[in-house]
Amino acid sequence: MKIICIGRNYAKHIEELENEKPENPVIFLKPDSAILGKKQPFVIPLFSNNIHYEVEILVKICKVGKHIQPKFSHKYYEEVGLGIDFTARDVQDECKAKGLPWEKAKAFDGSAVISDFYPKEKLGDLNNLKFTLHKNNELVQDGNTSTMLWKIDELISYVSQFFTLKKGDIIFTGTPAGVGSVKENDILIGAIKDQEMFSVKIK
Ligand code: MG
Repeated sequence: MKIICIGRNYAKHIEELENEKPENPVIFLKPDSAILGKKQPFVIPLFSNNIHYEVEILVKICKVGKHIQPKFSHKYYEEVGLGIDFTARDVQDECKAKGLPWEKAKAFDGSAVISDFYPKEKLGDLNNLKFTLHKNNELVQDGNTSTMLWKIDELISYVSQFFTLKKGDIIFTGTPAGVGSVKENDILIGAIKDQEMFSVKIK
């Protein structure tokens, strides 16, 4: 399986990182070795002094597809989850400044938190889905898919122009504003519609 991540999909997050608004979705990949094991703590890697959390809605692909038209995208996923795209922001800033790829900052071991998945019918309107991240009981990210620049179905269509989507692939759909750094002993709790989806301890 592969993990496809979307960057810069929420306007307020683009502003907070002072990025340019893209003409098309920004795409990058994480390998399967990036997946943080269930119930495992996230260990801050030695190569970074500034690890950021980014809470994101996840979509799990349920069948093979390429060049999917947006109107057919809904047939390619049945389940939705929540995750964290952990980012070594200091390393990413260095990569950006040099015009280099982001993998060292985005695709390292443990950088992908993936919750259990829910059948999408149970979540109601996927284009108006509230999701949150709390850090040590403080609300730090308060997102809603209604403010995505590109909706889930548009993302699937766009991504499938470049990569054949396969059953089990997971798409990280981008983070809303409120990203920030983590330190040892922080606890991150993600929720969709106030239903807890994951809890991660930082080590
Ligand atoms: Mg992200």
